[in-house]
Amino acid sequence: MIPMYMKDCYLKEFDTEVKSVDGNYVEFNDTIFYPRSGGQPCDHGTINGIRVDEVIKRGEKILHKLSEPVSGKVHMKIDWERRYKFMRSHTAAHILSSVIFKETGALITGNQISEDKIRIDFNLPEFDRSRLSEWERKANEIISEGHAVKTYVLPREEAFKIPDLVKLKKMLPESIQEIRIVEIEGIDIQACGGTHVKNTSEIGKIKITKAENKGKNNRRIYFEIL
Ligand SMILES: [Zn+2]
Repeated sequence: MIPMYMKDCYLKEFDTEVKSVDGNYVEFNDTIFYPRSGGQPCDHGTINGIRVDEVIKRGEKILHKLSEPVSGKVHMKIDWERRYKFMRSHTAAHILSSVIFKETGALITGNQISEDKIRIDFNLPEFDRSRLSEWERKANEIISEGHAVKTYVLPREEAFKIPDLVKLKKMLPESIQEIRIVEIEGIDIQACGGTHVKNTSEIGKIKITKAENKGKNNRRIYFEIL
């Protein structure tokens, strides 16, 4: 089942029901809370007025840590300011990664979003720092062009017909038969389960703040959204 936070990233409040309880961890019929995964932190918010600041994935289950018991019908509300910043940050990470890939051919090996900065790791033997400002400028140009960001689900075989996604084939287990695609029109296409804005113009502007070497071929850059 595709959770509600994927179907509509802009939904701030939602009514649902308790499905199962395991100690402090509660699973609901559906959820607007993003669970910590894929380099994006979980959402914070309230469920029936009770604070939620830990949401995790265990297998297929999305579990919300609650300090008080709940049962039956509930009302969910996410901290929108935090979530929206992650949506902007996450979409910006796709754009900057795509610029780095197009400019250097470097493979992106990881990323981590936090409230004040975003980290991207990539594999590149020759790292010319003087190009950072050019990457930043190109990413900001794409952002300001206002590209639509579309998300949709494709059957596995369909998804792997897209040239940009073929490289994922070995990484995604056979059990995953449906693949969620995030397409920044005219710019980038990825398989991703995160939350994104609908249009790149919502991001605003990015600034690369730091670059580090992490081992022989591994590079790490940090950026902020302004
Ligand atoms: Zn994404």
